[in-house]
Order: sequence, then C-alpha cells, then structure tokens
Amino acid sequence: MNSRLLFRIFRSYLIIGGLSILVLSLFIHGQVKKQTIEHIEDQLTTYGRIIAQSPQQDIERNLHLLAGSANARLTLIDGGGKVLADSEHDVAQLDNHLNRTEIQEARLKGKGKAIRYSQTLHVDMLYTAIPIYSRDFISGYIRLARPLYAITASLQNLYESLLTAVLIVIPAALIIALIFSYRLTAPIKAMEEYTEHIRKGDGSGILLINTSDELKTLAGNINYLVDELKSKIQAADEEKGKLLAAFASMNEGVLILNRQQRIEFCNQAMENILDARYGQIGGKTLMEALRNVELENAFQRHRESRLPVTQEIVLGDAKKVILDCAISPVEGLPGDEKTMIVFHDVTRLKALENIRADFVANVTHEIKTPLTAILGYVETLQAGTIKDRAEAVKFLDIISRQAMRLNRLVEDLLVISKIELGEMRFRFETVSVRDIIRYAIPIIEPKAVEKQIAVWDRIPEALPAIKGDRDRLTQIFLNVLDNAVKFTPENGEVVLSAEEMNGDLVVRISDTGIGVPKEDLARMGERFYRVDKTRSRELGGTGLGLSIVKHLMQAHGGAMKIDSQLGKGTIVSLHFPKIEDDASV
Ligand code: ATP
Ligand code: MG
Repeated sequence: MNSRLLFRIFRSYLIIGGLSILVLSLFIHGQVKKQTIEHIEDQLTTYGRIIAQSPQQDIERNLHLLAGSANARLTLIDGGGKVLADSEHDVAQLDNHLNRTEIQEARLKGKGKAIRYSQTLHVDMLYTAIPIYSRDFISGYIRLARPLYAITASLQNLYESLLTAVLIVIPAALIIALIFSYRLTAPIKAMEEYTEHIRKGDGSGILLINTSDELKTLAGNINYLVDELKSKIQAADEEKGKLLAAFASMNEGVLILNRQQRIEFCNQAMENILDARYGQIGGKTLMEALRNVELENAFQRHRESRLPVTQEIVLGDAKKVILDCAISPVEGLPGDEKTMIVFHDVTRLKALENIRADFVANVTHEIKTPLTAILGYVETLQAGTIKDRAEAVKFLDIISRQAMRLNRLVEDLLVISKIELGEMRFRFETVSVRDIIRYAIPIIEPKAVEKQIAVWDRIPEALPAIKGDRDRLTQIFLNVLDNAVKFTPENGEVVLSAEEMNGDLVVRISDTGIGVPKEDLARMGERFYRVDKTRSRELGGTGLGLSIVKHLMQAHGGAMKIDSQLGKGTIVSLHFPKIEDDASV
C-alpha cells in the first residue's frame, strides 16, 4: 500500500511539474511571437515613414536599395491601389492592391498591418503600409513586407533554452519530488508497520515519528489508542483468568452456550459429572450432548423469555445423577448473547433426604410396635385381667420385654447419634484384641449352646496391639458375634480368627448361617436395614447392631467389611490399624 502511496504522491509531483512547464512554454510562446511581430512591425513602419518622405521618383529609382536596407519587400502603390513598383515582383503581374487589409487600414488609420501566409515562400508574411500624402490627400502607399522567419528562429531559441533548462531541472526535480514523497510517506509506512504488528498480536514497542506536523499528532493518537487497547486487553485477560479459575475451582458443573446454542465452554466439574459415555461435548447442542428432554425444554423456555430458569434433571441409567440446573443469560455484546447453565449435583443430597425420611419412618415404626403392644396389654389388664394372677404375670412379662426393647432401641439410637455428633467419649488405650474377644465369647456362649452352635476361637496368641476403647470394642465383637449366632441355624459353627494384613490387624468372624443375598451386601450397616425385617424383629433385633459396629470401627480408624454367600454363611472382617513399633501383647 505504502509503495503505491509513494508512487501516487511522486506521480502528482510529476504531473504538477509537467503541467507547469507546459503552461509556461505556451505562455512564453505567445509572448515571444507577439513581441517579435511588434518589433518587426515597428521597424517596417519606421522604414515606411522614412521612405514615404522621399519623392515618388526617388523611391522608384532607389527601390532595390531601399528594400535592401529595410531588409524587406518594398512595394510602391498609387492612391487608387495600382502597384507602381515592387522590389521582388513584376508589376505587370500584380493586381490592384487597394482592398488589401494593410492598405485599407493605412488609408483609414494612417498605418496598416496584416499577416498573410505566402504561398511562394511557405511562411507567414507581415505587411505594413504607410500612406504617402501630397498636401491633404493620399497619393500613394509604401508597403513593406517581411517573412516572419525571425519568429520561428526566436521560438526555436526559446525551445532550445527551455529544453536545456528542463533537462537540467527535471533530474533535480525528480530527486526533490522523490525526497518529498518519501519524507511524506515514511511516517505513514512506519504507522502501517506498527499497526500491522499490533494486529498480529505483538503489542510491544512504541510508534516514534520525527515530524512536527499532523502526522506526529496522528502517531501520538495511535500510541494512546494502542496503550488504551493494551490495558483493556490486559484487564479483560485478568477478568477471564479469574473467571476461569473460579469455574475450575467450582464444585458445580458449568456449561456456556454460544449464540448458535452450541457448547463453547465446559468446566472440569462438569466433565467429572458427565462420565466418558457422553464423549466430547464441545461444539454440540445441549440435546446432542446430554440427550435430556427436560433440560432441552427448560432451555427453550429460557430462550423465549431470556429469564433465569431452573430445572431438576436425572442423567444416566445405571448410575443415576440428579442435577439441579440453573439456566441464565450471560450479558454480552448485542447479537452475541450467550447462556450459562450451572449444574448442581444433588444426588447425595437427595439420597440423604431419602435416608432421613426412611429413618424417621423406621424409628416411628420401631417405637410404635412395642408401644402398641404395651398399651394393648395394659388396657387388657385394666379391663380386669389383672385379677387373673397367672395371666397378669404373663402380660406383665410381655410388657416388660417390650419396654426393654424400647429401651434398647433408644439406647442404640443414642449411641449412633452420639458418635455422629462427635459427642461419644472414648477412652483409647493400648489393648489386646485377643483379651477382648476372650471376654466377649462367654457372654454369647449360652445362646450358642442353646442352638448347639460351636464357637471356635482361632485367634493366634501373638497379635499386634491396637489403640481402642475396651467397652466399645467389646460392644463391636458382641454385636457381630450375636449376629453370627442369631443368623446361624442349629448345629452350625462360628469361627473367630485374626491375622496381620497390609499393616492392618484383621479379625474375622465367620459363620455357617443363612448368609446375605449379594444385592443386600452393600446396604449392611445402614440404620434399620435388615434382610428379613419380620425375622429380625421376631429375634428381638432393631437393625441397629451393624450400624453401631460400622460407626465404632470408623471411630477406631478402622473399617468393617462383609462377605457372604446365601445359604452358606457370612464372614465379617474387622480391620484395625495396628500400633506401629509396638510389641505383641
Ligand atoms: P440388632 O443387632 O439391633 O439386634 P439385627 O441383628 O437384626 O438387630 P443388625 O445387627 O444391624 O441388626 O444386622 C442387620 C441385618 O443384617 C440383620 O437383620 C440380618 O438380616 C443381616 N445379618 C447381619 N449379620 C448376619 C449374619 N451373620 N448372617 C446373616 N445375616 C446377617
Ligand atoms: Mg445384630
């Protein structure tokens, strides 16, 4: 662009220069021609006047002499226009000259002039005529004529001088025009290069222009605008960085849709929510990416109103994810409206809500059953059965058992809630698991004997010590042993063993009981969860035993794992972190 600008300015200089020379030469041409003619005319007129003073006979006699000294053709004409003598032509061949322009003019004005082209000489001729007076009338005319070779010569001289001047001036003018053009375009070239750098994203440097005209002001303005632009871009980059950092650290998933309703941004949390099955979602529409009709409908509602819309959706088939979606507009340039969708994973929250609701229902039910029994028997006693002593004792026994059941339930619930609230006081000390188990087995033994179940203690003598609360550890083993005996039919076996595994101390209580279906295994340890509710209740259970074990194990930094085969038996493994560098107890 700039070389073209340089060329255009240079060409303008050349045209202006060329035109000036042309106009000047035309003007000088006219002036030179006019002045040469006037000069010749003056000469001839003067000669004419001098000749006209002489008597006619003298003129005729000295015709050639006079013509020679005037360096002109001399014609003597009488008052009627008849040619009396001519220095160059035969008079007999010349017609009457009265009507010639120069003669008519001389007759009227006292001097005449005309320029005519001579066919003979092929050049313009200047004719001047002066009247010859005899007293008061014109007796004849002196006409002097000279070819205008002088003009051509003068003009030739002029053009030669002009050409010389032009030949000298043109290279100089060219150089000057080039220098001027270059000086004019150099700053523009610098500006072009600088703005080109900026356009390509290189914001370094400053535009320096060494002039003191409008170009300097322009350069200053460009520098100012570039500075402004740089700081605006920097501010925008910072904002973008902050936003991206915020999006990256959010637990909520974020999607941003562009004007074409295609996904242009997806944060890490969103990628985590959508597992690999959804694949690459960038550039897709919401429907293509998530294939969820509720979300699509909510998005369409938002598009119509541009108002925030919320919607709960469920994604996934086997592993369901419940998401609270908030669709809102992103303010931007008109015509570039974007949409942001924030996905809040409420799966766990919903599950907890369900657990809480289940828990309340379970507690209510568990309390209501013994209460109904107690109230029923009390009513029957009040109605008169109290008088029947044998019946009364039986009823009171039932009432007492139901009340004890209620009491156990409340105590168990209290234990769990205390552990959950962190209010349970533990007295941790270095203890031997073997001692605790040896204390627990006799407590459970009567029940086992009753069902003729053999309880085998295969705990090795040398075992690493653990840190634990004796009473709570006893509670753990009693609960697990109680289950093992309770859910094992008569003549079964319960085996206790222990070993060190991956730095943990693992105690296993296995039985040959009824076992647990595979699908129920994951729920073992949930409050009130029982495989067979009625049976458990008949056996006096509340369904809190394993939940307490699970909580207590966690409080000891350990874990409970259950493995079972339906109809064959169950193994409950209790993992305790052993104390480092402690000798066996
Ligand atoms: P509670 O312990 O409060 O007296 P419970 O024994 O029924 O009542 P949990 O100890 O929490 O409750 O056990 C929950 C359920 O797990 C039981 O109802 C039973 O269905 C199942 N279960 C536990 N241990 C065994 C086992 N060893 N064999 C078979 N099923 C078991
Ligand atoms: Mg139990």
